[in-house]
Amino acid sequence: GSEAKQLHVFFFPLMAHGHTIPMIDIARLFAARGTKCTIITTPLNVIDFADNIDRDKKSGLDIGVEIFKFPCVEAGLPEGCENLNSLPSPDLTLTFVKALQRFQEPLERLIEKHRPDCLVSDLFLISTADAAEKFGVPRIVFHGTSTFSLCVIENILRYEPEANATSDSEVLVLPNFPGEIEFKRSQLAKHAEDSHSDFKALRKKMSETELASFGIVINSFYELEPAYAEYYKKDLGRLKTWYIGPVSLSNRNVIDKANRGKKATIDGHHCLQWLDSKEPYSVLYVSFGSLSRFNNAQLLEIAMGLEASNVSFIWVVRMDKLKAEDQFLPEGFEERMEGKGLIIKDWAPQVLILDHPAVGGFMTHCGWNSTLEGISAGLPLITWPVFAEQFYNEKLVTQVLKTGISAGNEVWSAWIEPDKVSVTKDKVQEVVSQLMHDGEEAEDMRRRAKELGQRAKKAVEEGGSSYKDLTFLIEKLRVHSESD
Ligand code: UDP
Repeated sequence: GSEAKQLHVFFFPLMAHGHTIPMIDIARLFAARGTKCTIITTPLNVIDFADNIDRDKKSGLDIGVEIFKFPCVEAGLPEGCENLNSLPSPDLTLTFVKALQRFQEPLERLIEKHRPDCLVSDLFLISTADAAEKFGVPRIVFHGTSTFSLCVIENILRYEPEANATSDSEVLVLPNFPGEIEFKRSQLAKHAEDSHSDFKALRKKMSETELASFGIVINSFYELEPAYAEYYKKDLGRLKTWYIGPVSLSNRNVIDKANRGKKATIDGHHCLQWLDSKEPYSVLYVSFGSLSRFNNAQLLEIAMGLEASNVSFIWVVRMDKLKAEDQFLPEGFEERMEGKGLIIKDWAPQVLILDHPAVGGFMTHCGWNSTLEGISAGLPLITWPVFAEQFYNEKLVTQVLKTGISAGNEVWSAWIEPDKVSVTKDKVQEVVSQLMHDGEEAEDMRRRAKELGQRAKKAVEEGGSSYKDLTFLIEKLRVHSESD
């Protein structure tokens, strides 16, 4: 037959590092299969990944960028507030999500001009569904989290299991949920109520547009959470799902790995050299993602706990909400830890670090990207969720996969209040020692984690489950495009 026409796919990520990073990886995966890819973003967001895209283009991938003005002022946001990470207060989240719906019009113009074969857009960009529908373009949803979390959220929306609980510490089991996972009310309620009922209404709307979409791409691999993949599909009616992850494994070169999402504030090679001097599995990597902020009191407890545990560590501290003069380390800490602990102020080359053989554990806030990056690197985790579905990802790790131990945080708060400490120094020391030192339980966890890491890599190799699912998806889009 004649040569097939090149597919053209639009990718429209939510402006938040944890959503943009994996969406760009997905675009890369499509481009590597010969698809033309256009990533849509805004002026301040493109800065973070423009260099990586340039390198992709030079290496022959057909990836381009389209820029939409962010209507900050019109939407009631401060000027320059183009990313969830740059919100001055979490109270503006709803305003931000509403602002996103204003992209419908420019998106319609762009679709009309290029007539793409598909739009992959974030769940939060609800109005993109209307734009796509208007021109008969199939829209695929991307959430950026685990299937497990999606199942929990959907279950809560449907059955409101927290409604009958009498106290926050009451243990709940979600109705019809596979695996008898135990939650506390405090870990669920926020999603259902979420202080703004407006947000709940939006979340329901997201669910509806998702059900009406062409399908869902998931940054996970089937073998990681098969029971939930089936539940999501059969019980929750998400019939068209494609598992194409872990997408972080699509990063091929060191520079891309080092500067994922943002330019790292430490030289990647320096970091690797530091790690080279350490024994295999001896270093703990400590990071809480791009959004969570700890106060000085909590940072102090972490520092003291790490010191007391006597393990080598790399610890990333996000600086953008700390003032330069803030004292968040104990007196003389950095001098005492020289050679033993590396503190990265602001942004770390995370994937590069996790993949280094000296790293033996990861203390994480359980954002899905970090969790999956840890899993892909074959590492056991210390789970310390801070807000949102991080608490659900923690359950997946500790109760289903059994490759991690919980630091025990139950306080749901993106920005922990001044002076509040949710995990003490002693607890930090206890869990770090438990994970990093010898012992049968730790050994079992390490073995399981290592096995999962191998399965993750297999899934994305040619012939693996995620590799094949991407093939199916592209095939399906081709058929759809040709039937037009
Ligand atoms: N990340 C990074 N360096 C950092 C902090 C984060 O490269 O210092 C990356 C990390 O590898 C992950 C993403 O940023 O891909 C964070 O996403 P995640 O879902 O883990 O958490 P969120 O930031 O959305 O809470």
